[in-house]
Amino acid sequence: MARNAVQFQRGLSEAEFERLYGTEEQCRAVVIAARWPDGFSCPVCGGRSHSEVKTRDLFQCTKCRRQTSPIAGTIFASTKLPLRTWFRAMYHLTQSKQGISSIELGRRLGVRQTSAWMLKHKLQQVMLERDGRKRLTGRVEIDDAYLGGERSGGKRGRGAPGKTPFVAAVETTPEGKPVRLKL
Ligand SMILES: [Zn+2]
Repeated sequence: MARNAVQFQRGLSEAEFERLYGTEEQCRAVVIAARWPDGFSCPVCGGRSHSEVKTRDLFQCTKCRRQTSPIAGTIFASTKLPLRTWFRAMYHLTQSKQGISSIELGRRLGVRQTSAWMLKHKLQQVMLERDGRKRLTGRVEIDDAYLGGERSGGKRGRGAPGKTPFVAAVETTPEGKPVRLKL
């Protein structure tokens, strides 16, 4: 399973976070690097060469011409929200000691409360899966999050064809500061 880590500085300031992960392109590059740490690999034929379909943000395999979205099969594919909103949600959710309400999260992200609730819910779901009900402090590792964040029933279950297992983990200091984000 492909893993890659993004190093969050200890106590990363919001300004610094914005500088590093503030644009959609930056976040997308992180996700692509996490998904294909050794470069593109076609999920259908294993082909390594590809072209990019820029307008639709897809990678097209040169061999079998299958088009793959870098976020397909990841938790990020479960909404139409930009990646940078997801990254900011991860940042805010892991920064605060007591956790923050979806109202507050929505305010900080500039999204509707229903979207904020969904982001928080999905992130917490994958963050908590590995460690039971532990809060988002200490080392939290997430494993095997599948497309849409759903794990049971239907074609979206574990090992469903064409689904890429996706790993995301946030490592924090005892104070709840994110240290490392693993995807
Ligand atoms: Zn292919």
